[in-house]
Amino acid sequence: MTAGTPRPRIDTSKPHPARVYDWLLGGKDNYPVDQQVGETLPAEARGNAARNRAFMHRAAAWLAKNGVDQFLDIGTGIPTEPNLHQIVQAVVPGARIVYADNDPIVLRHAEALLTSTPEGVTDFLHADVRRPGTILDRAREALDFDRPIALSLIALLHFLPDDEDPYRLVGTLVDALPSGSYLILSHGTADQHPELKQDTEAAYKKGAIPLRMRTRSEVEPFFAGLQLVPPGLVFATEWYQEEPAPVQERSGFYVGVARVP
Ligand code: SAH
Repeated sequence: MTAGTPRPRIDTSKPHPARVYDWLLGGKDNYPVDQQVGETLPAEARGNAARNRAFMHRAAAWLAKNGVDQFLDIGTGIPTEPNLHQIVQAVVPGARIVYADNDPIVLRHAEALLTSTPEGVTDFLHADVRRPGTILDRAREALDFDRPIALSLIALLHFLPDDEDPYRLVGTLVDALPSGSYLILSHGTADQHPELKQDTEAAYKKGAIPLRMRTRSEVEPFFAGLQLVPPGLVFATEWYQEEPAPVQERSGFYVGVARVP
């Protein structure tokens, strides 16, 4: 953000996705309106959030170990240690990470996202995924778009209703990435617990947050034209590389990591 630009106001009268998610993870950066949504959600939502976060840790570490040292993370959320840059820079200290989120509360915590290693870079953009061109222009200031980049859209796209055309938005972002880049994606779903679908949607709806959980066949097209790496498009609890997946728990998230050919 440019020096002198007024900081956007944090509206505590309406729940926000970042703050509800923070509550689900047991964080302290949320308000009574957010807690109300969290408490109305099925109890399983807390475990789902933690298992989604754990997937992010595994996927980011795996990509870093496989030589990816640039990350563009959109829908970052309120910092929760370890954050993506901490995972990645623990493997590749010189890695460069650009974060983007449209919620002013994440902007307020940007300093915590900017604790880069001296060799690496972290940057934060207060920006909306619905304006992918703006994000890409600004990301180019910190990332080299001639070398592979991992684009992470984790627990973000279910906040985009169909009329926002999330598939086109993802396509625009992915098209800007060079060959050898990756998409890391996770997406809310009720496929493993259809009985909780109605209550989950109702809790968010009451807070005026549009939630569009998607089925497997609705999540699959986000990977159009990309090469899913094993184990493919799976539930968050099934995405393991080095170790076998532990005893199966249910998950409210589909996840996948795919390579740009
Ligand atoms: N990626 C993190 C946080 C997920 S919570 C994780 O998985 O742990 C979803 C985040 O997406 C919130 O921080 C919310 O503010 C952000 N978000 C929602 N809609 C957005 C939009 N249109 N543009 C950018 N960020 C958005």
